[in-house]
Amino acid sequence: MSVVKTNSKYGQQSMGNSHHSSMEVHDLMNEQSQCQIDEILRAGHAVRFIPDSLDEAHKNGYDNCAYCIGGSTR
Ligand SMILES: [Zn+2]
Repeated sequence: MSVVKTNSKYGQQSMGNSHHSSMEVHDLMNEQSQCQIDEILRAGHAVRFIPDSLDEAHKNGYDNCAYCIGGSTR
């Protein structure tokens, strides 16, 4: 169970934005332009989860992205 930095959006389903004011998890299979995935990668804030699941993201304090997942809890 861990969170690791990544510089790619390939080879995973969930990607987190580790920026302290954001801390959101995105579903790359349902990526929307509002997710700004490329911007997150460029800023060096992208992380992936091991195991690669929303449950793991939530356990690490990440909230659902409103655009690609929905059901935000805050
Ligand atoms: Zn998203």
